[in-house]
Amino acid sequence: MPDPVPPDPTTSRGSHAMTTTSNGTPAIEFRDVVKRFGDNVVLDKLNFSVAKGDRVTLIGPSGSGKTTILRLLMTLEEANGGLILIDGDPYTHEYKGDRWVEIPEKRRRVVRNRVGMVFQQFNLFPNMSVLENIIEAPVHVLGLSKKDAVERAEQLLEQVGMSDKRDARCTQLSGGQQQRVAIARALAMDPEILLLDEVTSALDPEIVADVLGVLREIARTTDITMLLVTHEMQFAREVSNRVLMFDHGQIVEEADPETMFTNPSHERTQEFLKAVL
Ligand code: ADP
Repeated sequence: MPDPVPPDPTTSRGSHAMTTTSNGTPAIEFRDVVKRFGDNVVLDKLNFSVAKGDRVTLIGPSGSGKTTILRLLMTLEEANGGLILIDGDPYTHEYKGDRWVEIPEKRRRVVRNRVGMVFQQFNLFPNMSVLENIIEAPVHVLGLSKKDAVERAEQLLEQVGMSDKRDARCTQLSGGQQQRVAIARALAMDPEILLLDEVTSALDPEIVADVLGVLREIARTTDITMLLVTHEMQFAREVSNRVLMFDHGQIVEEADPETMFTNPSHERTQEFLKAVL
């Protein structure tokens, strides 16, 4: 059971990074977010925000809390404190009268539907065809007609270069092909925010470029807000406009990619990048 505390910026001890532009509500905002697994405090009053249309890459050593942040945004994990807001709307709790109350599942789902995620291990429905995977949520969650969902799915399959596999079973596809279908499936929900969690880590090196190419094109042609966790520093550099360096659940440095990758100022970032670049 979470134990949210009213966010109070004046007493916040956590790290803070703002990638908001001066106009408008951030697409994503973490206010004093706490996440523990047993005694392991993974996020300790984390504050950061992502402006609409921003492409933000989270980097940092394994175990520093990057995936946990994405999983919290998908409500695959629940925070133990603080607030997460999507486009200004509290995600899990809201302050009513003088206390925090949990947001009912139905309203929570409406907010969650604005967020799409692509996972390292694709997570497609193995017993469905490619097309069925893509239309499942638009039909059953958004209530789209099957005809409209199929039409949109076909456009997306073309966009990710998978039209010829429309009726294939997902188990017949290579890793790279599955990941392209997973990207199409996430986009089929028309998300405002796309979360990408190490989407090329499970792929053979020669097909990583294909998947990155698809994502690069999405970044170029849409204004979807993206939050990425990746070890592909070149990709991070090309696609993102902000990079946040994490260590032990805290942001130790925030910069544009050029500065972060060529001239990082924090010693921890310098060490990390020396090891991975
Ligand atoms: P990163 O993505 O930076 O590698 P993670 O967010 O995956 O880091 O993990 C941060 C910490 O949280 C690690 O210490 C990890 O062991 C722990 N952790 C993550 N998920 C769980 C879980 N489901 N149960 C227990 N501990 C977890």
